[in-house]
Amino acid sequence: MIILMGVAGAGKSMQGRLLADEKGYSWISTGEILRVLVTGKRRQEMLEGKLLSDDEIIRLIDKILELIDVHEEFMLDGFPRTTRQAEWLIEQAKKGRFNITGVFHLAATEEVVLERLKKRGRVDDTDTAIRKRFDEYHQVTLPIIDHFKAENIPVFDINGDQDARIVHDQILKNLP
Ligand code: AMP
Repeated sequence: MIILMGVAGAGKSMQGRLLADEKGYSWISTGEILRVLVTGKRRQEMLEGKLLSDDEIIRLIDKILELIDVHEEFMLDGFPRTTRQAEWLIEQAKKGRFNITGVFHLAATEEVVLERLKKRGRVDDTDTAIRKRFDEYHQVTLPIIDHFKAENIPVFDINGDQDARIVHDQILKNLP
């Protein structure tokens, strides 16, 4: 399992797609899946940039992992995003459900990311929702990286400001 991490606009989904096509890996993006599934008030919360509950997301990932062959390489994009989600994932790996190959952390500057999100123009790319996702990322998601390091899971920091093809090549170079 390869974990793609990075703030909104850092290029996780772009890299997920490129790797899926080139290497034939499954690309599991919780954001994409939730945008298909979630309705009503929770959809509204998503559009405001709020995270959905850990219980709900963990239940969802648990089911999705039953649909694929976890012994083949696959990517997670957008999960884990909180300490509780990361702890669940590490626990599942320790139980032998799958192997965590490594974490690719796409570190991008706010300036570059804002420009990309403006161009992308997704419904949740409003100024307030972007700000909320940035804050959440720094306060809640980034600390997860230390968890992975403490568990001796390889973490690769990649400059996400670079052109997507360069980022892609750097990911490929670090894949086993
Ligand atoms: P993304 O496409 O990764 O930017 O995700 C879009 C939205 O989906 C987020 O702003 C959250 O509301 C929700 N979401 C995606 N992944 C998670 C997760 N792991 N935990 C909680 N909420 C999530």
